[in-house]
Amino acid sequence: MNAHPQTPAGEVDIAAALAWARARIDLMDARVLLRHVLQCPASRLVAWPEQKLAAEEWAEFCALVERRTAGEPVAYLTGTREFYGREFMVTPVVLIPRPETELLVELALAHFAGRRTVRVLDMGTGSGALAVTLALEMDAPEVIALDRSREALWVAMANAAKLRASVSFVQSDWFSALGEEHFELIVANPPYIAAADPHLEQGDVRFEPRGALAAGVRGLDDLAEIVAGAPARLLNGGWLFLEHGYDQAVAVRSLLADAGFAAIASWTDLAGIERVTGGRWLGRGQR
Ligand code: GLN
Repeated sequence: MNAHPQTPAGEVDIAAALAWARARIDLMDARVLLRHVLQCPASRLVAWPEQKLAAEEWAEFCALVERRTAGEPVAYLTGTREFYGREFMVTPVVLIPRPETELLVELALAHFAGRRTVRVLDMGTGSGALAVTLALEMDAPEVIALDRSREALWVAMANAAKLRASVSFVQSDWFSALGEEHFELIVANPPYIAAADPHLEQGDVRFEPRGALAAGVRGLDDLAEIVAGAPARLLNGGWLFLEHGYDQAVAVRSLLADAGFAAIASWTDLAGIERVTGGRWLGRGQR
């Protein structure tokens, strides 16, 4: 590949490359992309600004900056995203893990503190971020992760292998292909955006799999399906925690109430938005 035409090859150092990029894209993104090309820690960009880029490195960096200019998410360009302190592989067949989803992990850990071998189900696992994190953070849990997308399951399996997490994977459209298993904890970050929401056409979200994002007219179709099916899969005393949209907490609480859950509550994310709602299954008529 040839170097970018605007700058001669072999002459570009780290400082010049970042200056060129920051005129086009966000400086933080430029740093992440340059670190990806140079396979170096952040400190190198600061400590050694006069280091020259090889012609191939400069060409690769230019190509990534141009793709970012066209809107592609940084996580898909580098193929990685950090979640709960670990690096996950991501490709355009899976949703890019979000910091707010770490709230689901924290709730699971808080509710099962001191408990061993809890049976956990992650529904719509995508990259496997939730399932792998719970497998590694809980005390010897038994984790099953499902997704209807075979391509997503390959990514999740690769992450479980890379991070040495013990997770069983099932290709299933929500509960349809699950066996007779029962769980003490079900978590899900399902699609929850209204199909006509303009957010789907903006920013990074445009490049993410639509099937992981959009869920019917109000964005509640998948949340409703999971809530309806969960009682038959939860052991008595088990918990269901669901991530949802910024304006869906009331609706999800009422779905849980209608299904007969107890101890229904919502929790706020770091932005102060009610982002996860959950409830406890105590058996029919045990509210
Ligand atoms: N929080 C994501 C967004 O608004 C959506 C994630 C999801 O649908 N599960 O971009």
